[in-house]
Amino acid sequence: MDLLHTTEVKALVELQRMDTALDVLAGRVAEVPVKIAALDAAFEDKKKSMSAAREALLALQLKKKNQELEIAEAEEGIRKHQRDLNAVKENNAFKALLSEIETCKNKKDALETEVLNSLEAIDLAAAEDARLKAEVRRIETEKNSEVALLEAEKKELEARVAAAAEQRAAAAAAIAPELMEKYEHLRSRRAGLAVAEAHEDAKTGKFSCGGCHMGLTPQKIVDIKKHDAFAVCPDCRRLLYLKRTVFG
Ligand SMILES: [Zn+2]
Repeated sequence: MDLLHTTEVKALVELQRMDTALDVLAGRVAEVPVKIAALDAAFEDKKKSMSAAREALLALQLKKKNQELEIAEAEEGIRKHQRDLNAVKENNAFKALLSEIETCKNKKDALETEVLNSLEAIDLAAAEDARLKAEVRRIETEKNSEVALLEAEKKELEARVAAAAEQRAAAAAAIAPELMEKYEHLRSRRAGLAVAEAHEDAKTGKFSCGGCHMGLTPQKIVDIKKHDAFAVCPDCRRLLYLKRTVFG
């Protein structure tokens, strides 16, 4: 079939325009949950890095606590050995105790240096923890307002879809059922586009199908200039029309 005769060319072109607009709107509605999920995922990632920083800080604080306990143990050792010194009479035992005390003192000094290092690390970790906490709060506020905007946009889009679908149904009801059947069949097989406008290249004067972009033969060019008929694209089988023939 090279030509589809019908007096409803204009009505079908108009219906295709409505359907294309509806598809775009429905696509935008479908995008909203995807966008919201992406915002939620980014926020969850940020929260994870925040809890990692918090755990690092807690680990450093625990390390420092253990170092302080070890210092207390070393001090206790020093005191004990000093008490023992008074009871010792024998020279070798006395020397051994002094040496023990020296060892404990050295250990204590080393631990005190470690505690200072820990304090420095804790300061840095606490600053990072505070920075991430503030960032998470900021991102959460931003995310919540973006989500609220997206949800409002979705509601508005859904209302537009409903109104457009109603108009579309009325327009479709006015078209002959066998033409509608052909149209729906083509639309389902051609990515939603059953009726395509033929494009004319102003420079070369060549015509092409607005659906599959293949060039049209001289016979097809004659066909698209006929009134009350659609030409059929030989490549994609879409119903072709020329704007100036239909609306000119
Ligand atoms: Zn085509």
